[in-house]
Amino acid sequence: MDLSLVIPVYNEQENLPLLFEAVYKTMNPLGKTWEAILVDDGSRDESLSVLMEYAAKDQEHIRVVSFRRNFGQTAAIAAGLDYSSGEIIVLLDADLQNDPADIPMMLAKLDEGYDLVSGWRKNRKDNAVTRNFPSMVANRVISQVTGVHLHDYGCTLKAYRRDVLEGFRLYGEMHRFIPVYASSVGAKITEVVVNHHPRKFGKTKYGLERTAKVILDLFTVKFLVSYSSKPIYLFGGTGGLLMIISAFIMAYLFFRRIFFLVGVTGSPLFQTSVMFFILGFQSILMGLIAELLLRTYHESQHKPTYTVRKVINMESKYD
Ligand code: UDP
Ligand code: MG
Repeated sequence: MDLSLVIPVYNEQENLPLLFEAVYKTMNPLGKTWEAILVDDGSRDESLSVLMEYAAKDQEHIRVVSFRRNFGQTAAIAAGLDYSSGEIIVLLDADLQNDPADIPMMLAKLDEGYDLVSGWRKNRKDNAVTRNFPSMVANRVISQVTGVHLHDYGCTLKAYRRDVLEGFRLYGEMHRFIPVYASSVGAKITEVVVNHHPRKFGKTKYGLERTAKVILDLFTVKFLVSYSSKPIYLFGGTGGLLMIISAFIMAYLFFRRIFFLVGVTGSPLFQTSVMFFILGFQSILMGLIAELLLRTYHESQHKPTYTVRKVINMESKYD
């Protein structure tokens, strides 16, 4: 299979017929083998029956996964990826805000040798105050923190080579961070400007609170990508620093005691020093526990601590 489209669907009954029309219009002339995996995320409208109708008509291309309840867009995407079999995977929204007509251009970029092509909704048609502005800020912060510079993490429309999607699972609202994981396993990433349309039917499932969740997820992602193979550097580093500060404060207090006869325990600096010492010590212990967890994680799943592109004159060990 050349290509899998993975499409999360939640209450999009009016959009689906138009979506299928647009998908066929793009995919048929491509001359590739393809499938579209639509994941019904516990819709409460008629989305599932519309999907079933199309699936019955076209068993070659249309596949449906139906959730028992609403698990969220990231879970829907994760399921779609698990069931997909294409060499290349394209994610897009079901509400036609993304334009399937952009897909061939993105595939051409992959052919140039990129592993991940990220859509950029340069002309985004969502609410400026609750969505576009917070999202712009979030994109800057994410780019700065992770070192993977993209204008539009939130755009679902992205194309991936399958191998950069292997080796991690998606939690929370994490699908937008796939480029960060991909970059951490050495993917070549590029960005293209894509169309964006206002929603015609149904309404958006998100508001301002989403940006807050995204920023919290960023902590997790940064930790996982930068420190998950060496947590003691983070915890031990912080802990060590706190203990050094604590030692300096204590030295200063003793110096004052000896030469200026000022009591040690009367000063709030004394409590600060003791607190820093305890926190620092705890932090180092936490780092050691994290190191243990890390070993359990890799060894219980036979997961290597590296990613291999290919091996020559040998069998690959892990697939
Ligand atoms: N979606 C989903 N589960 C959810 C929320 C959204 O599968 O719990 C799907 C939704 O049907 C759409 C895509 O995710 O295909 C993006 O959702 P939406 O258009 O509401 O987000 P926005 O474009 O406003 O960011
Ligand atoms: Mg949308």
